[in-house]
Amino acid sequence: MDDPITDDLLAILACPKCKAPLARQADLLVCTRLECRLRYPIRDGIPILLMDEAELPSPA
Ligand SMILES: [Zn+2]
Repeated sequence: MDDPITDDLLAILACPKCKAPLARQADLLVCTRLECRLRYPIRDGIPILLMDEAELPSPA
């Protein structure tokens, strides 16, 4: 199955909270801003960019 999250798509997506770019991490999109680092799920190939759905990063 083709990966629907292409680099082109990733390039136009941004964290809804802080507007930073997102990075792909397995089945998650992770905010690249160090102070934010919210993690958004990808469901059925669709990134769920909602703060209500985001997971906080695990403590370092
Ligand atoms: Zn963010």
